[in-house]
Amino acid sequence: MNKNIAVIRGDGIGPEIVGQALRVLDRIAEKFGHTFTYEDVDMGGCAIDKWGEPLPRHMLDKCLASDSVLLGAVGGPKWDNVEPARRPEKGLLSLRGSMGLYSNNRPARLWPQLAEASPLKPSVVEKGIDFIVVRELIGGVYFGDHTTSEKNGEKEAVDIMAYTEHEIERIGRIGFETARKRRRKLTSVDKANVLDTSRLWRAVMHRLAEEYPDVEYSDMLVDNAAMQIVKDPSQFDVIVTENLFGDILSDEASMITGSIGMIPSSSLGAGSRGLYEPIHGSAPDIAGQNKANPIGTILSAAMMCRYSFDMAAEADAIEAAVEKALDAGLRTGDMMAEGCRLVSCSEMGDAILSYI
Ligand code: NAD
Repeated sequence: MNKNIAVIRGDGIGPEIVGQALRVLDRIAEKFGHTFTYEDVDMGGCAIDKWGEPLPRHMLDKCLASDSVLLGAVGGPKWDNVEPARRPEKGLLSLRGSMGLYSNNRPARLWPQLAEASPLKPSVVEKGIDFIVVRELIGGVYFGDHTTSEKNGEKEAVDIMAYTEHEIERIGRIGFETARKRRRKLTSVDKANVLDTSRLWRAVMHRLAEEYPDVEYSDMLVDNAAMQIVKDPSQFDVIVTENLFGDILSDEASMITGSIGMIPSSSLGAGSRGLYEPIHGSAPDIAGQNKANPIGTILSAAMMCRYSFDMAAEADAIEAAVEKALDAGLRTGDMMAEGCRLVSCSEMGDAILSYI
C-alpha cells in the first residue's frame, strides 16, 4: 500500500520523538512492502516563528490532503505570552475542527514490565489492563451554552448538555468498529437513570447493537464505570462514552497504567483519516537532550496502522517490538527502575527497530 502521512514534529521534544516513530514506520514499510511518504507540516510554536501563525492555511491543506496525520507535541514557554488567538494550541484545535474529528481514542494498556508504576494493587494488575476509551469530542456539555445570571438575589450558572441522535450514532459506530478490531466487547457508559441525553444515548446504542451482533455489548452507569476501572479493569475491551464522562474516565484510565511517556492516542472522524499523537506535551524541561521516551509516539504510529490503514499485522509488529525492548530492561529516564538500563531516546528507537 502507498500512504501519504502528514508529519507535525512540533516543538520541544516533538522532533526527537517523531524522528524515532518515522524510523519505525520506514522499517515497517520495508518489511511489509508498503510505501510511506511524509509531508512535513509546521504547526505550533515553530509555525508562529516561521509564518506568524500556529497553523497556516497551506500547512492545514497538507493535513487535509493526507491519509493520516502524525503529531509529536506543540507549545512551550517561549510562546506562553503570545496573544490567545495565535497560541500554539490554537493550531491543534483548528486542526481537529478542520479534520472533523469527533472521536478521541485513548488506550489504557499496562505493560507487565512496568507493572510497579501502576498505583493499583498487584492482585488487580496481574489480571492485565488492556482497554480503550472512545470519547465523543465535539458535543455534550462542553459545547452547549454556558450562562451565569442573577436569580432571586444570587447568581445562577447554567451549562447546557445536548446530544442529537446522529451525534450519538457516529461515535457509537466508532465504538463498535474499534471493538471489531480488538476483542469484540463494547461497554457503553452513560447516566441513563438521571439524564435525558443518556436515555437517548442508550436508545441509539441499542439500535446500533443490532447491526453488530458479533460484538458483545453492555451498558454501564458512569459512577459504576469509575469504580470498575480501578476495581477490575481487566473486564473492559472498548468503552464508548460522551464528552464529559470520557474526559474524566480517560484520565482515570491513563493514570492506572503508569508512565505518561508510553500512552498513544488517536482522533477520528468520518472516513479513515485520523490524527495520531502521544498524550503528553512538549516536555520543554528535557527538549533537545535526546532523553525523551519515544514510545508514546511510536505506539501512536502503530495505532495509525491499525485504525486508519487496516494494517493489523504491522501494528502488532510494532507493539511486539516495544514489548521486547521493555523485556530487555531498556528504559528512558521517565520510567527508569532498579536493575534496568537507562537509554536515550534514539537508543530506544534503535532497540525497537532491531526487534521489528
Ligand atoms: P508535558 O507532558 O510536556 O510534561 C510533563 C512532565 O512529563 C515533564 O516533566 C516532562 O519532562 C515529562 N514528559 C512528558 N513527556 C515525556 C516523554 N515522552 N518522555 C519523558 N518525559 C516526558 O506537560 P507540561 O509540562 O504541562 O506542558 C509542556 C508544554 O506542552 C506546554 O506548552 C503545554 O501547553 C504543551 N502541551 C502540548 C500538548 C500537545 O501538543 N498535544 C499536550 C499537553 C501539553
